[in-house]
Amino acid sequence: MSTRSTAVIIGGGIIGASIAWALTKRGIDCTVLDKGAFCAEASTASAGMLCPQAEMLDNVQHLQVFAKSQAMHRPWTEELEQQSQIPVQYIQEGMYRVVFTEAEERTARAALAHAPATVEWLSAAEVLGDEPDISHDIRGAISFPLDGQLHPVYLAKSFKAALIRVGCKLVEWTPVLGLLVNGGRVYGARTAAGEFHADYTVIASGAWSSQFLAPFDFSLPIFPVKGQMLAVRHPGLSLRHTVQGPGGMIIPRSDGTFTIGVTHEETGYDKRATVEGLVQSYQSVSRFIPKVSEATFAKTWAGLRPGTPDGLPFIGPIAGIEGLLVAAGHYTVGILLAPITGEVIAQMITQEPLCVDVDAFRPDRFHDATAYH
Ligand SMILES: Cc1cc2nc3c(=O)[nH]c(=O)nc-3n(C[C@H](O)[C@H](O)[C@H](O)COP(=O)(O)OP(=O)(O)OC[C@H]3O[C@@H](n4cnc5c(N)ncnc54)[C@H](O)[C@@H]3O)c2cc1C
Repeated sequence: MSTRSTAVIIGGGIIGASIAWALTKRGIDCTVLDKGAFCAEASTASAGMLCPQAEMLDNVQHLQVFAKSQAMHRPWTEELEQQSQIPVQYIQEGMYRVVFTEAEERTARAALAHAPATVEWLSAAEVLGDEPDISHDIRGAISFPLDGQLHPVYLAKSFKAALIRVGCKLVEWTPVLGLLVNGGRVYGARTAAGEFHADYTVIASGAWSSQFLAPFDFSLPIFPVKGQMLAVRHPGLSLRHTVQGPGGMIIPRSDGTFTIGVTHEETGYDKRATVEGLVQSYQSVSRFIPKVSEATFAKTWAGLRPGTPDGLPFIGPIAGIEGLLVAAGHYTVGILLAPITGEVIAQMITQEPLCVDVDAFRPDRFHDATAYH
């Protein structure tokens, strides 16, 4: 059996979904193939934080891309919600990054030199005046008032309903076994359920993306980085902001739970939550939110981020391989960068001018010895 569409996307995580959305809206027929259920890997394990301002502080040279994706996020999710009638539980209450020591305060204040004007240093008294359940031992915090969050599980539900509604084909439980190649041109994907032919094939398979390029002798350095999370309940804990501190963070959800995380472990494709990992997250967060020690458990889980050597994604074509695009390796910022990634890949396929320069995210950047040294 073979099926034909203009674009085949390998991977139905948030990145594959956002590419499918951008293409389908342009009238381009596409098929999304996933080895399991739609959005059941990193994308729904995620914390759902949209922290462009905090990310910009750490990745100042990529400010334009983070800022653009931030600006796209709300209209993008509103459109999804309109199609699906499923709210993504977007909340924009800002984030505090708290510090405890003089050295941490010095580093935090120095980082503000690159920050947008809205990002500022707040004294402990100012932070505690706003969020009294934060530890009184803090020295202060950087405030990122424009940072927000959404609920990744509801984002996935919303996406699935919206994509089906606009006519995109989602093929679940169908692992891609390899690319279809003829004379240096990729023309689709091979699965046990048949061949899926396409003019454009997009690798958006998260932490599993590098396997497809082995036949080309092309190394795409993407590896799994496990993150463990837990959700707790505490009716007496009052928190409006997401709070990040040394080694962990806590996110208040609209259903009254608090999400706590998160570890960064390079332990292969094992995504089981462990006592050690969860205790590590708990201990970090209980230092700045002491009340979490009285909370009750709601849930634990873990997921595999698609890690890369520089923490930045791979977005674009690979020279010498026609018909193929890569959109993978979004590491800690896949939810944040999903709108811009979908848009840029769709623009590459339709040969529109790109809305942002993504040259720094070239899939072959580690093949050029001068690029990163
Ligand atoms: C604990 C945790 C917390 C995080 N917090 C945040 C956050 O707060 N903010 C943020 O922006 N990002 C966050 N991230 C990162 C973000 O979740 C990821 O960058 C993003 O989900 C990557 O999306 P993806 O679609 O590339 O990968 P995935 O969601 O992993 O999707 C890849 C898909 O490809 C499919 N696939 C793999 N192999 C095959 C195959 N052979 N055939 C067919 N399909 C295949 C998989 O089944 C999967 O559905 C977090 C991640 C984790 C794990």
